[in-house]
Amino acid sequence: MSSESVKHGLSFTRRKFMGAALAAGAVTTLPGCKFVAGSGSNTIPEPPDFPPGIELYQQGFINWARETKVSGVWSCSPVTADDVVTLANWAKANNYRLRPFGSGHGFAPTLIPRGDSGENILLVHTHDFMNQITVNATEEIKSVTVGAGAYIEDICAELELYDLGLYHTTAPGGISIAGALAMNTHGAATPMTGETLQPGHSWGTLSNLPLAITAVVWDDAQGQYALRTFQRDEPGIGPLLTCLARAFITEVKLQVGPNLKIRCQSHTGHDIAELLATPETQTENSFANMSANYGTTDIIWYPLSSKQTCWVKTWTVTPEKPDSAREVFEPYTLSDGVTMAPLAADVLSSALRTYPKLAVAQYNTQSVKGVDSLMANEDPETKLNDLWGSAYTQTLYVQPLTPRVTVAAWGVIVSRDNVQRALSDFYQFFTQLVADFKSRGLYPYTGPVELRAHGLDNPADILMPNAVEPIFSGARPHPDHPEKDTVIWYAINNNVDQPDAAEFNTKLEQWFISHYSTYGIVRPEWTKCYAYSEDGPFGGGWSNDEVLLETFPDTWRTGYPAESNWDAGVAMLNSYDPHRVFTNTHLDKLFPVS
Ligand SMILES: Cc1cc2nc3c(=O)[nH]c(=O)nc-3n(C[C@H](O)[C@H](O)[C@H](O)COP(=O)(O)OP(=O)(O)OC[C@H]3O[C@@H](n4cnc5c(N)ncnc54)[C@H](O)[C@@H]3O)c2cc1C
Repeated sequence: MSSESVKHGLSFTRRKFMGAALAAGAVTTLPGCKFVAGSGSNTIPEPPDFPPGIELYQQGFINWARETKVSGVWSCSPVTADDVVTLANWAKANNYRLRPFGSGHGFAPTLIPRGDSGENILLVHTHDFMNQITVNATEEIKSVTVGAGAYIEDICAELELYDLGLYHTTAPGGISIAGALAMNTHGAATPMTGETLQPGHSWGTLSNLPLAITAVVWDDAQGQYALRTFQRDEPGIGPLLTCLARAFITEVKLQVGPNLKIRCQSHTGHDIAELLATPETQTENSFANMSANYGTTDIIWYPLSSKQTCWVKTWTVTPEKPDSAREVFEPYTLSDGVTMAPLAADVLSSALRTYPKLAVAQYNTQSVKGVDSLMANEDPETKLNDLWGSAYTQTLYVQPLTPRVTVAAWGVIVSRDNVQRALSDFYQFFTQLVADFKSRGLYPYTGPVELRAHGLDNPADILMPNAVEPIFSGARPHPDHPEKDTVIWYAINNNVDQPDAAEFNTKLEQWFISHYSTYGIVRPEWTKCYAYSEDGPFGGGWSNDEVLLETFPDTWRTGYPAESNWDAGVAMLNSYDPHRVFTNTHLDKLFPVS
């Protein structure tokens, strides 16, 4: 018996015990509580003929935003990639669908849609065991090989031991690499004037980093599902680089670069009208000039606060520690001590929905007070406004225990010369939209807005020749528009189920699509909320079929080669899973049988 299966065996026994102990009092599965098969507490029928040796339990599913809640989903924790193959073949034979689960930080219905009964679904948790990390520091192209469930924070920490790293990351690090790639995640990364990319890094999304991906795919010759590794120069890897959970990734080899040192400065007190000024009226303190002077720039703006407070962060590659900066050795310094337990988050969320006129103003006042006081601290030992350290200690800054929000989000690809114009246009429209609703006594939006930008998923960043583009990446370059080299992500954070949000977001999205069509390409931020309709269920997201199934896919059709456009990508994913084991009702709509 391998050491991994010994670990597995112990874990199973302990969980079985906990399940039995909890079974006595429970009538439905509480989130986080596991009920093992056969415990007598299960709420929907047990999956039949389940493969022996793979831990099976029932557990409530709640995503991070506490927006999607499904009671008692059958779940399992495979130990190896071969276990996932076994599960896929079992699922095909028993009419089940497998849903890969990383850490549940996603907002989109690619995992389990809201309102799903959970029947005939098996959640497959990858982080429990499929989390190995091997740094390939002596290979010509430096890389790291990781199990699907390895968390980004652990990968970065391991890379640092070899003086390697990533240029930018998602803000939270407790998310799985496969979940991150599947949903095309990113941080922020814009070169300052004169900055060049160091070999191994990319200005694009994480989907641009894999050198190889192993997935469970249908094997015609064997007549069953099997593991297959796709190299980055094989066209077949194109749809897997951003697979939107229509495939099951088991292992990834990521290209990595030198461990950069980064200075993260927080700037408060800026005027949002100046930051997002028109190109004609911009100053040194406007976004485009700040990103030219400092490099990567991120704005968190509280449009509902009385002072229109904005917190601007800049990340500048800085090899030597500046005297005034505080050196840090761990990530999340920026959010140290900022925690809100789930129950408190639920109470806040409920207050925002129920008493929007009072609660929205109070929430924003409290939030900006918190930011202002944290950033005002100039004590060299504890200051947060000027930090320096390895890239990952700076770019990972969000921890899970914060107020829970849902996020409407879109990416707009423009030329770098048009970044200021694109931000300024948004500022003017958004400010007016909020004011219009307020004049009707409506508070459909609670804030804040986050604005970030980075370069596109340029295959030339990959040191392997003939690297293939991520077909479904929002940051995929367009062959007819090489001048469009930057994607701006607009993230509109809101309270879950805030009344009138569907109308607000629909108006905003329709504006994005029509307004930017003259000089940009508008894409959904896959992992968040988009395709709104005013009368759609569950806040209106993902319910506008015209936008979801035509407008957005067309941005990956028009101008792209037939062998790697949207439809080619869908056909490839369907060929990897012709029995539709790795799908759900939402994905069946997005990726129909081709
Ligand atoms: C507080 C917060 C901050 C965030 N900040 C950022 C940010 O800065 N940048 C950004 O880009 N995103 C951000 N996100 C979104 C987050 O990074 C993505 O939702 C990411 O996909 C979450 O990964 P996960 O491991 O939690 O995946 P899950 O939520 O568990 O899964 C996400 C999707 O990936 C699929 N998936 C998981 N594992 C696999 C696999 N092995 N094979 C195929 N598909 C798989 C799932 O089925 C699901 O559909 C943030 C989310 C939160 C809640």
